[in-house]
Amino acid sequence: MEKVISGIRPTGNLHLGNYFGAVKSFVQMQNEYQCMFFIADWHSLTTHPTPDNIRNSVRTILSEYLACGIDPEKAPIYVQSDVRPVLELYLYFNMNAYLGELERVTSFKDKARTQPDNVNAGLLTYPTLMAADVLAHKADKVPVGKDQEQNMEMMRLFARRFNRIYGVEYFKEPESYHFSAKAIKVPGLDGSGKMGKSEGNAIYLCDDEATIKKKVMRAVTDGGPTMLNQEKPEPIRNLFTMMEIVSDKQTYDYFNDQYNNMAIRYGDMKKQLAADINAFCAPIRERILQYRADEDYLTRVARQGAERASESAEQTLREVREIIGFRK
Ligand code: AMP
Repeated sequence: MEKVISGIRPTGNLHLGNYFGAVKSFVQMQNEYQCMFFIADWHSLTTHPTPDNIRNSVRTILSEYLACGIDPEKAPIYVQSDVRPVLELYLYFNMNAYLGELERVTSFKDKARTQPDNVNAGLLTYPTLMAADVLAHKADKVPVGKDQEQNMEMMRLFARRFNRIYGVEYFKEPESYHFSAKAIKVPGLDGSGKMGKSEGNAIYLCDDEATIKKKVMRAVTDGGPTMLNQEKPEPIRNLFTMMEIVSDKQTYDYFNDQYNNMAIRYGDMKKQLAADINAFCAPIRERILQYRADEDYLTRVARQGAERASESAEQTLREVREIIGFRK
């Protein structure tokens, strides 16, 4: 079975965009591949979080992935910092990664521009740590968005370079796995664009009913269609797209007909949409709270994940040490 590995950023809560754009596909993938998910707490150090920030966000994100349906028996979830051999591989890759090529990575250049006071070496070497995360387990595929494509190219470059330097065929080049065909872009309800944490328009899986309602009722609309079967402007299209994602077809068709007949009442549509989003989120929300309250279970999941991941990474590192000329 092919190995798939995916890193999870421990920043903030999961929103509907994350769920329908990524996590739902992960839940399906765990049945088709040998998946591993890790919470990238080392990567998060580039932003200098406090110890409490780290502890809390790791537990929160773990609860949310479990609540969404990641089954740790099928797909281990581990905390990156629990698997130390990765750090060693990171060091080896850093020795063969060059300043010029690291500085040319677009996400590094963006960060260097937007946070000139914190251009740290961790940001620069993000691609070597990412390569170590994946290659330590010899994963075949990595689910990534377009923004990670350059880091994937770097990973393949580091794998090839290692093989060339040591005259081995050891690391194979991992492929990017795009679930764009199955995943959906979840729109924001603030008029344009997609839902996102930094866009400030996110509906979180842990939001309570009142919060969901407040967010949906604020959605941008217009004065209504003035012609039969009029094309929908973006804010209205976004409202319908959201309804298509969370509501049943009958409900969607009803409001779509109302729109086409110029009889739409956006207030009614939003009420229905808020109720449907809540119906979708409620069971997940309940499970998030249950998992979050069960520290022992979370610790067990993370420990089991770490054991499985350490075993696989340690095996790789034994071989890598020998190739490099170190003791196994
Ligand atoms: P982020 O933490 O915002 O980088 O999101 C993590 C992943 O969630 C992204 O790589 C996407 O796969 C997915 N995602 C985030 N927002 C959306 C959205 N509005 N629609 C679809 N997918 C999304």
